[in-house]
Order: sequence, then C-alpha cells, then structure tokens
Amino acid sequence: MKKVRSKRLCIIGVGLIGGSLARAVREKGLYHEIIGCGRSVANLERAVELGIIDNFEQDIGKAVNDCDMVVVAVPLGAFKGVFEQMKDHLPDTAVVTDVGSAKQSVIEDAKKALGNAYQNFVPGHPIAGTEKSGAEASFAELFQERRVILTPTDDTSVEAVARVRAMWECTGAEVIDMEPAHHDEVLAATSHLPHVLAYTLVDTLAAMSERDEIFQYAAGGFRDFTRIASSDPAMWRDICIANRDAIMKVLGQYQRDLTALSQAILNNDESALFELFSRAKQARDRSINSD
Ligand code: NAP
Repeated sequence: MKKVRSKRLCIIGVGLIGGSLARAVREKGLYHEIIGCGRSVANLERAVELGIIDNFEQDIGKAVNDCDMVVVAVPLGAFKGVFEQMKDHLPDTAVVTDVGSAKQSVIEDAKKALGNAYQNFVPGHPIAGTEKSGAEASFAELFQERRVILTPTDDTSVEAVARVRAMWECTGAEVIDMEPAHHDEVLAATSHLPHVLAYTLVDTLAAMSERDEIFQYAAGGFRDFTRIASSDPAMWRDICIANRDAIMKVLGQYQRDLTALSQAILNNDESALFELFSRAKQARDRSINSD
C-alpha cells in the first residue's frame, strides 16, 4: 500500500462520461493532475490534446498508483477485470467510484475483486448522457442540473461517500442516495426499457423489404423515438446482461400492455385506445412540466 503524494484523479475509460467528468472537475481545479486509462492510445492521445487529461497510462496498476480518487467509467462487462487489475496498486487512502448504469452487478464485482479496498468503493451513476461515445464526445456541462445517484452499502466508508459526493457536486449535479436494488428497478424502467424498445423498433423496420422507403419518409417522431438506438451496442449489451432481472420484469409488463393495445386496435376498440393514449399523454405532460 502506497501513500498519496498529491491530489490525483484517475479516470479509467476516458469516454463520454469519464471525459465529461474530467472536464468538469478540471474547470473547478479540484485535482492537481488527471490521469486517463483505457485500451486505445488514439482515444487517450486525443483526450490529452483536448485538455481533458494531463497524462495517460494503459496499465491500470500504474494508472491508479498514487491517486486519491479513481473513477471507473468503462462498459459494465469490463468492470470485474478493471477492479482485479487495480486492487494491488491502490494507495490505502484512495477512494474508488464508478459511473455504471446498473449497480448491483458492479457492487458484486467490486466486493469479489477489491479486497480491503472494497470499503472505499462508492457505487455511483450519473443520470446524464447522450448517444455518442468516446473522449471527443465529452463536454464539461453534461452533469449540470442533472442527478447523480450514489448507492453505498453498509460496508461503504462514510468518508469515501462524502468525497465522491463533493466531486460530483462540483460538476453542478444534484447528488442523491438510493438502495442499489431500487436503483436497478427504477433505471430498468426509465432508461433500459426505452433503449431496448428503440433498438428493436429500428431493427424491425430495417429488416422490412421496404426499409429504404420507410427510412426516407421517417419524420420527427421516428427520429425522437429512435435517437437512443444510435448508442454504443457494447455498452447496451452489457447493461442488459448486468440488469437482466429488473429489465425482464418491466419488459414482461410492457409486453402484456402491448398485447392489450394490439387487441384494442384489432377490435376497433375506440374507447380503449382513446383512454390509453389520454392517460399516457397526461402522465407525460405532468412529468415534463415537473422537470
Ligand atoms: P464510452 O464513451 O464508450 O467510454 C467508455 C470508455 O471505456 C472508452 O473510452 C473506452 O476506451 C474505455 N474502455 C472500454 N473497455 C475498456 C476496458 N476493458 N478497459 C479499459 N477501458 C475500457 O462510454 P460511456 O457512455 O462513457 O459509458 C461508460 C460507462 O458509463 C458505462 O458503464 C455506462 O453504463 C455508463 N453510463 C453511460 C451513460 C450514457 O448515456 N452514455 C450514462 C450514464 C452512465 P477504449 O475503447 O479505447 O478502451
């Protein structure tokens, strides 16, 4: 175990989320040095050019060495390996946090891989993003007036939570705490299900023989609904696997509701259709107005 020499932040995965966090905390001067880590040298070199990070290391052990805050911002499928590679190189005062879109799987990975450092691991998830990927897509304002959910467990050090909270607050985000299982259920409904639906809709239409004509005449509604189907496929594959149970639960409910809607259309059931659409419009209008 090493002692921390200076305030150094390590971002593992300098993509949209990791890069945006680095940009935001850099603007506030929260760390003396920001080290990036990832697989592709081209992305890391670009991140240095753009002033997102000061330096980079491809070896995770070397990257976390002497850092006092480590943020894991890679796709969920890579978490376990990343935790295993950092474990023996973390300074004893280092806090580790993450930005993963599901929390129970990340906590399980961290508990298995981090050993004593697990108590300084603070699970987190910024509720902000776009369909773009990589350092180039990052921007400092991404988290302003957005929420960041922390899901500490009974094992998590209170001081580590306070440090992670302070880091996120300086990006302009509102930080809230939530139970990990509750987080996974809420996000399955509000984020994961919409992505699954958008991908499926585009895939279904793309497989039709008239696809060119369909896409040619696609208007604003189609664009709005399917924007998120341009998101990174590896990231969404990993989210579906990591949050399988919660996604299956809400997907099952959606499939039942879709079957009922199909039946109403088939039966020319005007009142059922009107009631459903009115209910949904009211619910959406209410939620938009309360934002
Ligand atoms: P991204 O833009 O693709 O960035 C991911 C970064 O991780 C890339 O820079 C990638 O660089 C690196 N990476 C991938 N696999 C790696 C590995 N095995 N080891 C080390 N580095 C690796 O993705 P993102 O949108 O920032 O998402 C990152 C995390 O944030 C995910 O866990 C996601 O669930 C979560 N999240 C995303 C959003 C969103 O809307 N996008 C919102 C909230 C949370 P290389 O390919 O060069 O290694």
